[in-house]
Amino acid sequence: MRIGVASFSHESNSFYSQPTRIEDFGVHEGAAIIDYYRPTFHEIAGYIKGAEEYDFEIHPTLAANAMPAGPVTAEAYEHFVGRILKGIEDAPALDGILLALHGAMVAEGIPQADGETVRRVRKLVGNLPIAVTHDYHANVPPELVEAADVLLIYKTNPHIDQPECGLQAALILSRQIRGEVEPKMALVKPEVVFNIYFHNTSVAPMQPLMQRAIDLEAADGILGCSIAGGYQYADVPHMGPSIVVVSDGDQERAQAEAEKIGAAMWDIREQLRLDVPDPAAAVKLAIESEQTPVCLLEFGDNIGGGSSGDSTFVLEQLLAQGADGWVVSVWDVESVQACFEAGIGAEVQLKVGGKTDDMHGPVLDISGRVRTLHDGSYEEHQRRHGGGRYFSQGPTAVVAVGTGGGRGLLLLNSERACPNSIHQITCAGIAPEQQKIMVAKGAVAPRAAYEPVSARLIEVASGGATAIDRDPGEYELARKTLYEWR
Ligand SMILES: [Zn+2]
Repeated sequence: MRIGVASFSHESNSFYSQPTRIEDFGVHEGAAIIDYYRPTFHEIAGYIKGAEEYDFEIHPTLAANAMPAGPVTAEAYEHFVGRILKGIEDAPALDGILLALHGAMVAEGIPQADGETVRRVRKLVGNLPIAVTHDYHANVPPELVEAADVLLIYKTNPHIDQPECGLQAALILSRQIRGEVEPKMALVKPEVVFNIYFHNTSVAPMQPLMQRAIDLEAADGILGCSIAGGYQYADVPHMGPSIVVVSDGDQERAQAEAEKIGAAMWDIREQLRLDVPDPAAAVKLAIESEQTPVCLLEFGDNIGGGSSGDSTFVLEQLLAQGADGWVVSVWDVESVQACFEAGIGAEVQLKVGGKTDDMHGPVLDISGRVRTLHDGSYEEHQRRHGGGRYFSQGPTAVVAVGTGGGRGLLLLNSERACPNSIHQITCAGIAPEQQKIMVAKGAVAPRAAYEPVSARLIEVASGGATAIDRDPGEYELARKTLYEWR
């Protein structure tokens, strides 16, 4: 048995100013995919394990992934889908296809891009079984469920179960190819906006819903049950949560089970109301906190949700309120260059952040002393959101700001980097346990890295491309009937 593997993954934020181009994608091809992903916690690592456990050969074609940002250009979309289709076409005889797609890709002119990708693969391979894995932040459209045989979605946020998701897809697909099961899939889209603020799968309201999915998956005749929280920053027709049930040979049962969980999600809609402090209030709470370190989760500059990484709203408040012992990371290529030119120990006067567009706060005048210069590479050996192992934030400088009771460390990097690994700051000589306030530019994802080193986490409703309280009037394609938009 030989199974083709491809990955084309991007979370595209319709509200971010910078498009995602061909050169923004990291690409692995052929056997290099196995070498790169095997030691990770990505779902492709699960596919690879599946090949060993369920006795099939993998034919890897292309894996292309880019940092979340604005929609993928039409050129980049056609380029990578074209390469995937060519890779499948040129492969020796295949028995099935495993596709790792994010589920929230928006391409220029193709809002539900992952659905289109699966449709094109289906057109090419005819009746060959296709199993797809998605990120929990997928906006699943009906056309994808029609084109695929199996869709499975991570069950955790922070995403730490990706290998298990990939392994499960490999199991179902290999059993389907052997004629042992006959996947029948149903999709239900509850008519709610399930705000990212409520996406933590370890606490209510999502945890009890996800538990139902886990319990159902253990039942006879059910092969898979997934819940996607959705991704509210993609302005697409099927933005919002999804329930996907895969039964063994029973379409009606798949539909009925998906509708039951969909109804349970609808029933908790009144719990989905936001009450989150703004930057001024959140910084005040952090300063007053007796437990330290406090981690401030900066929702409006959620880099993993496609924001700039150079927002200054929280930093501005830390400086204005005289906070002590803070750490903030800001993506700022110019300031990094200035620090490298000045050298370690030099005093620098910088214009920091707010440079990408006019959504992410003012450019701040900050002076300080260059404390560390680093190449920005780091490695994560533990299971963290996204499952990655090797990271780079480009040349990185740490600047010590302030004196006396108002000191802080500004980590300036030259590539946008999600705070999914604590080694983003430890690599540059910052010890979390010695800090009082650490800012993580993200929503739920940084929890896997920051909960173990923080006494307390405080969420911040800041502005930016990933503001959590975006006006429904800013959306063109998303359904306006969703609760609480009606
Ligand atoms: Zn996600």
